[in-house]
Amino acid sequence: MHYQELLEKLRQAFPQPVSDPVHDGYVVFSILRALDQVDALKSQAPILGVPTEPNYEQARKERVDEQGRVLEAVIPELVRYLQGMFIWGHPRSQINVVPNPSIASIIGVLLPLTYNPNLCSDEGGRRFSEAEVRATAMAADLVGYDPALAGGVFTFGGTGGLLYGVKVGLEKAVPGSSRGGLKEGAVILASQQSHYSCLNVASWLGIGQDNVISVPTHLDNSIQIPALEQAAREALSAGRKIAAIVATMGSTDAFGIDDLRSISTLRNRLAEEFSLVYLPHIHADAVIGWAWSVFNDYDFTQNPLGFRGRTVRALAAAQHDIQHLRLADSIGIDFHKTGYTPYISSLVLFRDGRDFDRIARSRETMPYLYQSGTCHPGMYTLETTRSGMGPMAALANLMMFGKQGYRTLLGHAVEMAEVLREMIESHPNLTVLNGENVGAVTLFRAYPDGVDTFSVKARERSEAGYRKLLLAHNEYNRQIFQRVHAEALAGAGVAISLTNCYRQTDFGDPIVALKSYVLSPFSDENRMQSIVKHVLSAREAVDRGEGAKAAP
Ligand SMILES: *Cc1c(COP(=O)(O)O)cnc(C)c1O
Repeated sequence: MHYQELLEKLRQAFPQPVSDPVHDGYVVFSILRALDQVDALKSQAPILGVPTEPNYEQARKERVDEQGRVLEAVIPELVRYLQGMFIWGHPRSQINVVPNPSIASIIGVLLPLTYNPNLCSDEGGRRFSEAEVRATAMAADLVGYDPALAGGVFTFGGTGGLLYGVKVGLEKAVPGSSRGGLKEGAVILASQQSHYSCLNVASWLGIGQDNVISVPTHLDNSIQIPALEQAAREALSAGRKIAAIVATMGSTDAFGIDDLRSISTLRNRLAEEFSLVYLPHIHADAVIGWAWSVFNDYDFTQNPLGFRGRTVRALAAAQHDIQHLRLADSIGIDFHKTGYTPYISSLVLFRDGRDFDRIARSRETMPYLYQSGTCHPGMYTLETTRSGMGPMAALANLMMFGKQGYRTLLGHAVEMAEVLREMIESHPNLTVLNGENVGAVTLFRAYPDGVDTFSVKARERSEAGYRKLLLAHNEYNRQIFQRVHAEALAGAGVAISLTNCYRQTDFGDPIVALKSYVLSPFSDENRMQSIVKHVLSAREAVDRGEGAKAAP
């Protein structure tokens, strides 16, 4: 066949560049076909289709065919990959900090997906570049920054946000390191409950993972300020530069929140005392906690949304710490965590947008870019091409939900977590581990009969004679999890998760925890009840020695 004939067919494989409503119908109907096939996979279970494990062996055997296939044949092949996929928005799904994207955010993503703006510069981003500026200003205002002064870019995740924060901090502490390389050692200070991306960033920036100083935390999983002071003093006394202090504002497993105000005061005090010529950079890793900013102007006394007492207390306690975000020099925000957008929608905000100048490259190094337009984030971003999906998804939700909508979604998630906690606390064989944390995540453990769940936590944590029992109880909870998980995949109970180490004991042993992370707006009290019921019956099965066997 002559290529011109083939080309004519292939032109139908693209959305048409000039108006063709009939073909638009074909595009939309093709999407509908895919959705229809996905719908056939839905059941009562929190997954699509049946539990299916990835078949890597088969995948590695696949090759490109000589002849292509028609779209109608490709769609079912693509939909196949949803077999066994979790439905994060399912009321029986409480696995991790993964939201279900809203319709607005899906449409927000669909438009740049189709028209392919490049946020490198408004040359190619056009008004999508404006959307990024708008979403940035809205988020800046939300967290208490001055939007006129602040600046931000969307990047490849909370990890990317941290990378930007520490990179700028490094340039403040060791000026010229972008050009000349890192000629002096630098350190990152972060808590033991901080995300492992601190290590990642240290490695990728050439700071070195060994130079991430891990500061102990309180039992509420927040950084110990005196220990931070000691670590900072030791580093400064040894002549080392501080690339960044990372404040974890909502830790991944437990929702621990650091005392940012004290960190900021400490930073200022030490800078003066040591006569530093730079102010050590504070990056707030608020990828989870940022969303609680919507409560900064909520009237907790009047409580117009009618949350229960326990919930109001939890929301107010979190807001009490989150309100200090404005004191950080940079903030990582994941709309794709507590903002209900699809992956990836992550914003890194700087209180002073001029901080980006510190990491900008000169125009001569990028000859093919920036011939026109006025907004060129590509001069300082790590990425060259950046998609418009992140800002459009964020903007869609910020507009659609407003503060009230986010208060409702987060308030409900926290209310469900509080309902669960109340039920766990009232049961003699169960105990909440992160009772001092006030988010949508509940870490808990089950114990065999005869264990005093009031005292066991403290003993496991700090009594040497208890180490063997701690490890046995870790295994006990792992077995309970296995059963609960298998039942959930089969459509009974709720899919929760397990963390191998929500924090360490005084001896460095890991404490295993069952974990319920509520984000779905479809969660309700019955499902929370069902968690307790299934954990208790799994516990009985483990007591009978049936732990290793999966549930029927
Ligand atoms: C998830 C998470 C990160 C990493 O964010 P990504 O968007 O997954 O790259 C960093 N810090 C904390 C506290 C997190 O929970």
